[in-house]
Amino acid sequence: MTQPAFYPSHPIAYGRQHITPEDVQAVTDTLYSDYLTQGPKVAEFEQKFTEYLGAKYAVAVANGTAALHLCAMALGVQPGQRVITTPITFSASANCVRYCGGEVHFVDIDPATALIDLKAVRRLLESHPVGHFQGLISVDFAGLAVNLEEARKLADEFGLWIIEDSCHAPGGFFTDSLGQEQRCGNGQFADLAIFSFHPVKHIATGEGGMITTNNPALYEHLLRLRTHGITKDPAQLERPSDGGWYMEMQELGYNYRMPDMLCALGISQLRRAESGLARRRELAARYDAAFAQIPNVRPLAGAPGHAYHLYVIQVEDRRGLYDFLRERQVFAQVHYIPVHTMPYYQRLGWQPGDFPLAEAYYAHCLSIPLFPSLTDEEQQYVIDCIREFVQA
Ligand SMILES: *Cc1c(COP(=O)(O)O)cnc(C)c1O
Repeated sequence: MTQPAFYPSHPIAYGRQHITPEDVQAVTDTLYSDYLTQGPKVAEFEQKFTEYLGAKYAVAVANGTAALHLCAMALGVQPGQRVITTPITFSASANCVRYCGGEVHFVDIDPATALIDLKAVRRLLESHPVGHFQGLISVDFAGLAVNLEEARKLADEFGLWIIEDSCHAPGGFFTDSLGQEQRCGNGQFADLAIFSFHPVKHIATGEGGMITTNNPALYEHLLRLRTHGITKDPAQLERPSDGGWYMEMQELGYNYRMPDMLCALGISQLRRAESGLARRRELAARYDAAFAQIPNVRPLAGAPGHAYHLYVIQVEDRRGLYDFLRERQVFAQVHYIPVHTMPYYQRLGWQPGDFPLAEAYYAHCLSIPLFPSLTDEEQQYVIDCIREFVQA
């Protein structure tokens, strides 16, 4: 190996958070304020998040998984119900159905994008009586938005609700049939959309999540479910109030609240969301240009509205490349081991071989470093390492 001009002093991960002195100040200010849990920063973060996406309502929750769980509850998932999702996602997208006792049905992907294949969803729906399936959980995998206008048509035809798992795509969009940009989570097509603020995501608060919707009834219900099923809202009480302290627990909910200090961090991070997105797109364009010259490296398809949470390439010897990069301080990652091949889902009856396109994608995919604070020099080093491996 010839000594490269640049060698990283620390591992370059596939993703990482970006924290500034302003972020630290925002958290510190909140720590010294009157509220640590449900203070004014929660509502402020929710409000700013709806403005960012163009949705009507937002509910901040403990994390993306809690968001999915509450969505499944609010939509009434229960034992015997069947919900469709993609095998190429984080397990949580499917698990929320299981929390409520429902059945998960996977549909294979479109190999060009690794998104759920809506034509295959239609074939599945058409092969069963209407009412057999209750919902669809679409995933804006890697940051590429699912065409929810198409998904909504299907959902209306077959009586499904839609949860949009947009953890990878805040700020992303697809272009609808009228040429309008439709932002992920804007509430135009999906009943509910969810986001995560895990450190590798666009907006990082450590733990945290958000649900967005344009449906006022679902919004009110989610607020209750987030706090034990309790309401203090006079308009919602089932019985006459006993006094100023009065509240009612009307159904079984959870403590899935996001604390005030993390919402303060979220507000501060949200101010940089657009510049972070622009930097992600710039880095992705540089990868695109580099790999156009390296035939053995196949990136997933791009699109103008791609939010680039991940930059995924496919190579013949993925395991070899992963190890080669790791030895050179580049910590790539695999997204995802298909959910239906997980031991838990196999015990529920799914088998390797059930979704050949997802499995073929998994065999070759690798997510390489992409995050706003990745430097041009670091990115060039990653490209050089990949080139050296595939051309050897
Ligand atoms: C991160 C992620 C989740 C879960 O979010 P957490 O905040 O980690 O609970 C769910 N779905 C997808 C696609 C994700 O990337």
